[in-house]
Amino acid sequence: MIVVMKSGASPEQIEHAKATMVELGYQPHPIEGELRTVIGAIGDERGKPEDVESLSILEGVEKVIPILPAYKLASRDFKTENSHVKVKDVTVGNNKIAVIAGPCSVESEEQIMEIARAVKEAGASMLRGGAYKPRSSPYTFQGMGIEGLKLLRQASQETGLPIVTEILDPHDLDAVVEYADMLQIGARNSQNYALLKQVGKSGKPVLLKRGMSTTIKEFLMCAEYILSEGNEDVILCERGIRTFETATRNTFDLNAIPVLKEKTHLPVVADPSHGTGYWQYVTPMALASIAAGADGIIIEVHNNPEVAVSDGGQSLKPHKFSLLMEKAAPVAKAVGREL
Ligand code: PEP
Ligand code: MN
Repeated sequence: MIVVMKSGASPEQIEHAKATMVELGYQPHPIEGELRTVIGAIGDERGKPEDVESLSILEGVEKVIPILPAYKLASRDFKTENSHVKVKDVTVGNNKIAVIAGPCSVESEEQIMEIARAVKEAGASMLRGGAYKPRSSPYTFQGMGIEGLKLLRQASQETGLPIVTEILDPHDLDAVVEYADMLQIGARNSQNYALLKQVGKSGKPVLLKRGMSTTIKEFLMCAEYILSEGNEDVILCERGIRTFETATRNTFDLNAIPVLKEKTHLPVVADPSHGTGYWQYVTPMALASIAAGADGIIIEVHNNPEVAVSDGGQSLKPHKFSLLMEKAAPVAKAVGREL
């Protein structure tokens, strides 16, 4: 980190700042300017925000500028090559774009089986579906629970598609781990650190969604929680953030895709369904995500969106999903990937 002294800092204050750095385990390298002194503190400040705090409150110190990001395991400095996350026989993070598709919620055997067959037919690589739903209202459908998990397994057994489903509560971990091939942490739980630690210990790949008001740095710190428990199989998911805009459900942060790809080695998946909230905008933003460098897309598909119990308005009908797949193939090819 760099410690910038105030222009009127006394020699004693500069000496005290240097001594404090040594005490904290850093090597001070002062640069005396005409107006002020700047001290480079050589050492690894990652994971030690209290060191930055200790130095910034010293007398004569104007500000402290950390150089390294607060996350370690998630950063590109830690691992330069792209991570590949295996979900059964599907690899996310290599040249092939992963396509996760399925309904927002599992609603019935007929519904999930029909959708699973349709998305498989169209070329999806994994099946999504919520059995435990984080609804904004406690009076709306909360998910089928364990029955939903069983139906997902049935759909997986028939189609061969691995299952991605949300875990809401650490109490359900054992049940969800038994049925899911990848655990989804939803936007509302992205900073639920107790849950992040639990999924970090689960040994299952995790699809971590970005919280609706988390910065990219905070998002990477959430991933760090899972990684620091020894689980390396983390996939990040951009799903839109809250802004002043009301024309769409969220503001899909396309910028986050290249930014994340630069800052972390973890695979990045885009969710234009929640990112836009309207089915009409899903395909264009899915294509844009692939062009921007996403390693995969997650798309809500429903066989009868008009009667869906959740997120019908942003769900593609199966034939629209097939069209998306057709349009996505040349886009992937144009950026050196395949679908
Ligand atoms: C979902 O995937 O259906 C969902 C609830 O997503 P999010 O957590 O991104 O809102
Ligand atoms: Mn949904």
